[in-house]
Amino acid sequence: MRKLTVQLPKNPYEILIDKGILPKAGKLIGRVYEGKRAAVITDENVWNLYGQRLQESLDAAGMEYRTIVLPAGEATKQLGVFEYICETMAESGFLRSDLIIAFGGGVIGDVAGFAAATYMRGLPYVQIPTTLLAQVDSAVGGKTAINLKHGKNLLGAFWQPRLVITDPELLLTLPEREFAGGMAEVIKYAAIASPALFKRLEKYGGKSGAASHMEAIIHTCCSIKANIVAQDELDTGARMLLNFGHTFGHALEKSGNYEKYIHGEGVSLGMVMAAKLGEAMGFHDAEIAVRLINLLQSYALPV
Ligand code: NAD
Ligand code: MG
Repeated sequence: MRKLTVQLPKNPYEILIDKGILPKAGKLIGRVYEGKRAAVITDENVWNLYGQRLQESLDAAGMEYRTIVLPAGEATKQLGVFEYICETMAESGFLRSDLIIAFGGGVIGDVAGFAAATYMRGLPYVQIPTTLLAQVDSAVGGKTAINLKHGKNLLGAFWQPRLVITDPELLLTLPEREFAGGMAEVIKYAAIASPALFKRLEKYGGKSGAASHMEAIIHTCCSIKANIVAQDELDTGARMLLNFGHTFGHALEKSGNYEKYIHGEGVSLGMVMAAKLGEAMGFHDAEIAVRLINLLQSYALPV
């Protein structure tokens, strides 16, 4: 098992990364949460594929839980769904001393995290990310949010999880496009903070070459993010580095009405645009964009 700590002064927490760790989730949660009641928030795809494994693990740990299964997709990050989660928890008598378990990709992590930040003024939560994007990015750092009609992530809070449990084995069922989208964030980490990771990704040459190294790749990305978040939890300085490619990327996502491009595709194109802009402004030579484009292409990303 690979272990990392997000070193926040008030609420440090661990990220545990291990193939096949999901069946141990109940026991691991018991190490950071003394209660027995939880709301498991998930989406239908994840629940169909892996719900039983999580259930068995929580049962074995003697936990009582109510499962809230939401539709898959970005539309789930909306007020109506958030309200449904909170009303369901209220109906079941959930208290501030209970736990939320966010079991899914970034959509579930964001909406469940926001419910955790706000229900009864905040209760503890654990992230069990199931997409590559969530494992390397969204499950770490405590940004939670839902979308408004006027734009993405406009309603949210910084609220750190108690624990992140990451099982790279779950990535085997991820659709190709989603895997590639997660790789865009991986390549982003390499570009902003790790020449060594960049070279490793070049050497692997694409998904099939990288497949057996995912645990190490996730670990490297999470350690970069954990370091940056520890310096700048509230995103006013160093954390902005994590937005490389995201200004153009978000514009592209929006122009495609969040349907044409998934987030990672926007980030991929956005990083190329940023690199080209940097080149045009004389910040760096042409080799930067060339290497970036080649690497993105080898992981099936648009450039
Ligand atoms: P997602 O949660 O929509 O998941 C993508 C698809 O994969 C869904 O259909 C889901 O059901 C399916 N899926 C999930 N796990 C699976 C598995 N193991 N096998 C098969 N299918 C699986 O999308 P995402 O890319 O994980 O997350 C995108 C969201 O994350 C966006 O809303 C974005 O704003 C947010 N985000 C948040 C942060 C943050 O710091 N909070 C950072 C980056 C992105
Ligand atoms: Mg991103």
